[in-house]
Amino acid sequence: MSADRPLAVVAVGGNSLIVDADHIAIPCQSDAAAETAHHLADMVESGWDVIVTHGNGPQVGFILRRVELGIHEVPPIPMNYATSNTQGSIGYMFQRALRNEFRRRGIDREVATLVSETLVDREDPAFAEPTKPIGPHLDEATARQRAAEQGWVVKEDAGRGWRRVVPSPRPQEILELGLIRQLIAADTIVIACGGGGIPVFKNDRGDLQGVEAVIDKDHASSLLARELNADLLVILTAVERVALHFNQPNQRWLDRLTLVEARRYHDEGHFLAGSMGPKIRAMIDFVEHTGNPGVITDPPHLMQALADDSGTRIVQDG
Ligand code: ADP
Ligand code: MG
Repeated sequence: MSADRPLAVVAVGGNSLIVDADHIAIPCQSDAAAETAHHLADMVESGWDVIVTHGNGPQVGFILRRVELGIHEVPPIPMNYATSNTQGSIGYMFQRALRNEFRRRGIDREVATLVSETLVDREDPAFAEPTKPIGPHLDEATARQRAAEQGWVVKEDAGRGWRRVVPSPRPQEILELGLIRQLIAADTIVIACGGGGIPVFKNDRGDLQGVEAVIDKDHASSLLARELNADLLVILTAVERVALHFNQPNQRWLDRLTLVEARRYHDEGHFLAGSMGPKIRAMIDFVEHTGNPGVITDPPHLMQALADDSGTRIVQDG
């Protein structure tokens, strides 16, 4: 976009900052963010304009769990504030790491993290049916105990354990879009729409009001990429490629998915709700709307995936 560079929205998974259950501490997440920032800097160095978005599923769950444990001493934090907290902390990790990468490489670019709000519909049916996994993976007994004690809704998450799930309404509008455009035009690397953006709705007086939900960053990133008519949407997650029959003996990794195939496999249930499902939907929406491709891979394979040598590429039909 600016200086005629191609523009990519790169969404980084909240789960990809947590390598495994022994690496949930902040210094470990910071190391993972720095590792990802290294690959993002490669992308910038190779001539892309990059907008970084990120998830916050594990991290927003940790904050809400601290609230439960600290409730007798300190005031609770509503879910929308918890997401704004994670925009600051995760944004800070990426911002610092990118600055360090740019300094080492002699790249003269500013990095800005934006507190971003996303408009949702208060009547979205998602409020009645929680699907978005947050917090750590638990064993089933612990999950059911928390459900009974704290009123959580819990679900099994992609074969990895049980998690709390919360309402995840569809993003309708990114309120800071104009500001994001200005920052890109000013050559700034922007980190925005963290955790899908802070969910807000317009009340009867037309004022913005926060709401108890966590937006899926995949859908928000797709909306942002569509609004900016980005040349590419990248979703970085914990797997190098998308699979058919995921976690089954006949699992098959995919290099390429056309829109027709993506829709068919999605309808056949290959992409689990709350994890790969929203990524494929997000990709379908983006590719259909812009005609430009999307890529799903993990951070270490980013550069290879840009060269169409790794990852799963989602493309138009024909
Ligand atoms: P993120 O934090 O990056 O959004 P998610 O856990 O939400 O991560 O989604 C990525 C995960 O989706 C993968 O790590 C994998 O466990 C799971 N998954 C579900 N279905 C599939 C599939 N068909 N192919 C690959 N991964 C899948
Ligand atoms: Mg996710």
